[in-house]
Amino acid sequence: MTLAENDYDVIIIGGGASGLFCASLIGQCGSRVLVIEHTSKVGKKILMSGGGRCNFTNLQVEADNYICANPHFCKSALNGYTQWDFIALVDSYAIKWHERDHGQLFCDDSAREILDMLLSECGKAGVKIETRCEVTQITADEGYTIETGKGTLTSNKLVIATGGLSIPTMNTTPFGYQVAEQFGMRIKSTRAGLVPFMFSDWFREMSEELSGIAIEVTISTGKHAFTENILFTHRGLSGPAVLQLSNYWEPGEPVRIDLLPGDNLEHSFLEDKQTNPKSSLRQLLIQKLPKKLVDLLAQRYWKDETALSITEIPNRRLAEIAQTLHHWELKPASTEGYRTAEVTLGGVDTDDLSSKTMESKTQSGLYFIGEVVDVTGHLGGYNFQWAWSSAYAAAKDLC
Ligand SMILES: Cc1cc2nc3c(=O)[nH]c(=O)nc-3n(C[C@H](O)[C@H](O)[C@H](O)COP(=O)(O)OP(=O)(O)OC[C@H]3O[C@@H](n4cnc5c(N)ncnc54)[C@H](O)[C@@H]3O)c2cc1C
Repeated sequence: MTLAENDYDVIIIGGGASGLFCASLIGQCGSRVLVIEHTSKVGKKILMSGGGRCNFTNLQVEADNYICANPHFCKSALNGYTQWDFIALVDSYAIKWHERDHGQLFCDDSAREILDMLLSECGKAGVKIETRCEVTQITADEGYTIETGKGTLTSNKLVIATGGLSIPTMNTTPFGYQVAEQFGMRIKSTRAGLVPFMFSDWFREMSEELSGIAIEVTISTGKHAFTENILFTHRGLSGPAVLQLSNYWEPGEPVRIDLLPGDNLEHSFLEDKQTNPKSSLRQLLIQKLPKKLVDLLAQRYWKDETALSITEIPNRRLAEIAQTLHHWELKPASTEGYRTAEVTLGGVDTDDLSSKTMESKTQSGLYFIGEVVDVTGHLGGYNFQWAWSSAYAAAKDLC
């Protein structure tokens, strides 16, 4: 056992975004805090986030940006610690950031700056961090006794911040769900979110040929639609619009793509008949869409007409072609799963947690924060904002 002492006010299991932030806040109140991390390094997902630049929050944060069985659950925590509070912390470290589309805030330089900031806050607050430490058993009496590969620890309060199941190569674990179940809490079934689609039908070959091409579309399933870029990949479809939609997609459902959102193609074909009568269908479409996509779509849907001039094609047929491009229906075989997912949907049932403090309703002194909870954000910095806000809600109660 390398820990000098083994009795703490608060032990936090999981040294990721929510665990480190929560630890720094509790430590600043003068409590003795220990973070237990089972891998060799804390904050690994922060380092890989946002393509290495960490999309750490968003300028517009609303409950509507989150998916949860109880859509009101996240409101209290998000209002208690807002994006502006986190931006103020980032600014106090003079970390330079910029805004991208849809209010997303990224570091100018590196995600490492966010992790260093959290570690510096933990350092100032006297937080102890124990890495390569496996928890083998938790028992609750007056407080908590935690058996680890490095010895027995005790604490008055326990915070679970072990994240979700995405990217299993980073040694993600279902530990948090198991602890919840141990203390009589329920789990909403989990699945991969913010994840690319894979195809096994004819579209697989087409997407392979188009691999690397990105275009802005509106993609929808059921009541949910997103207008952003999609990216053709050698397995199917990715890009922000697809990742967003994956959170709502049910296996077996088709997805619909409007390849020309905001355009009325049937109407513009009729105009072209007057203004560009000699242009071929292909010439007109490649002004609006990538050539390779137009040619592959033509091969499948309008092989006989692609080289004809627009005036040679009956209006009825042009309407069908326009319909195909505005309502292109594809059927994903599956998602890429946890292997490449950014988040895990589902998790600790919010009916069993206080929305004000994140404390369990079945077990006093036990808290769940971050991604392990059944709260999943849209793409765009919302998942980190949930990590910060839920950590703050718990810390306020624990101080
Ligand atoms: C590739 C990628 C890019 C992303 N980019 C963004 C982005 O730009 N913006 C955004 O908002 N979100 C992003 N996310 C999502 C974001 O990283 C997570 O939502 C966020 O890290 C969740 O914080 P957390 O503290 O709950 O969990 P994590 O940050 O995952 O931390 C959990 C910690 O617990 C540890 N742990 C797990 N099990 C145990 C155990 N049994 N014992 C001890 N320790 C354990 C883990 O090793 C880990 O260190 C991205 C995710 C991925 C995978």
